[in-house]
Amino acid sequence: MKPFHSFTFLLICCTFCVFSQENELYLQAGSLYDSERNTILKNRVIHVKDNKIFQIGSPEILPENAVIIDLSEFTVLPGLIDAHTHVFFSQEPQEDFAEKSVSTLTLESTALRTLRGAKRARSYLDAGITSIKDLGNSGLFLDVALRDAINEGTVEGPRIFASGPIMAAAGGQMYGVSHDHQELVNLEYRIIESVADAKNAVREHINQNVDIIKICADNLPNNIRLTVEEMKAIVETAHSYGITVTAHSVTNQSAWEAAIAGVDGIEHGFILADSTLNLMAKKNIYLVPTENSRSYMNAYYTLAGRNPAELSWLDNYFNKSGERLNRAIKSGVTIVAGSDNYTYIQISAGASSKDMLRAYYEAGMEPLDILQSATFLSAKHFKKEKEIGILQEGSFADIIAVKGDIEKDFYNTMENVVFVMKDGKIYLEDLD
Ligand SMILES: [Zn+2]
Repeated sequence: MKPFHSFTFLLICCTFCVFSQENELYLQAGSLYDSERNTILKNRVIHVKDNKIFQIGSPEILPENAVIIDLSEFTVLPGLIDAHTHVFFSQEPQEDFAEKSVSTLTLESTALRTLRGAKRARSYLDAGITSIKDLGNSGLFLDVALRDAINEGTVEGPRIFASGPIMAAAGGQMYGVSHDHQELVNLEYRIIESVADAKNAVREHINQNVDIIKICADNLPNNIRLTVEEMKAIVETAHSYGITVTAHSVTNQSAWEAAIAGVDGIEHGFILADSTLNLMAKKNIYLVPTENSRSYMNAYYTLAGRNPAELSWLDNYFNKSGERLNRAIKSGVTIVAGSDNYTYIQISAGASSKDMLRAYYEAGMEPLDILQSATFLSAKHFKKEKEIGILQEGSFADIIAVKGDIEKDFYNTMENVVFVMKDGKIYLEDLD
């Protein structure tokens, strides 16, 4: 080998040494949440290489001179997943959803809407939510664009799994729009006109590289629904491309029909008969309960100019939603955590999303079960359980740490996020 070549070889080796050292580090976890087994392990070390977890083991795997981040005082978890977000839509508590949709489409430029959406998306990282399923109300595929911009590093944000426009029957969720202006609805929803159109709509969405299909099984207060045949056509076409379908449903009838049609998930499901829950359990259809906690509702109605103490129906709301959640769990339906919090209550979108954890806790779910719904189960029902919502060899290095005792002081601990890593990159390190 000529000297020149030796020198080049040495240079490459040294460059590689520096590179590999910079991209490898060890997280020393005092406690680690094993989301697959739903248990807390003690004293684990996570070896992160580039954007993936290379190994998890006991402290013996630590080499000499390792770059270590000391999380021994904290509990380390997979980055959380919010399975139901709308980062391109925000309304004030006193605003009407349909009116706000019209004004968003007519008074907010696509560019401004996208930039605002990007800012909201960024806030999820600070909250420890490293993945979101963004389910529509995002114009014409702005969610797909933001996902790609984040993935290529143009802007910072969580992993986005994007649905593109929601598929719905005439009028979509924009109730009250006059016949003369239905073209506005087409800027926000994909209106399905027939079984053949349903199949084509899925192909259009897949052509735009969506990750998931979102449909409206009902559109209340716009009182029309997709037919079972249309939903079946959507589900079969989507499944033939390996894409899952999740259905907005408020009434029991639409949830039943969506389940018959074979959807993978039901969003909201505010009214669900036992027979529907049993069908969901049998067909392995998950439920994303999008309830809010008492403190969220208090903030919401106070900002809307109402005194929450005078709203006697609120207690009834909490009782009913909690009762339904517990009935779903008893029936064997998988709960996947999702917030649907698009109302601005003067905290960031990401912080607002975390309210789902508090709501499930207030409804009686156990802390670890809530965490599993916001990690492993959410990923599993999306066929991503080897990549996200889990800490294991080969999964993405989406890792957070919280300060406190998860089982004894759940909500305060989950609020106290001290470390956030997504894709191997650290976004928050507040360990003092
Ligand atoms: Zn929603």
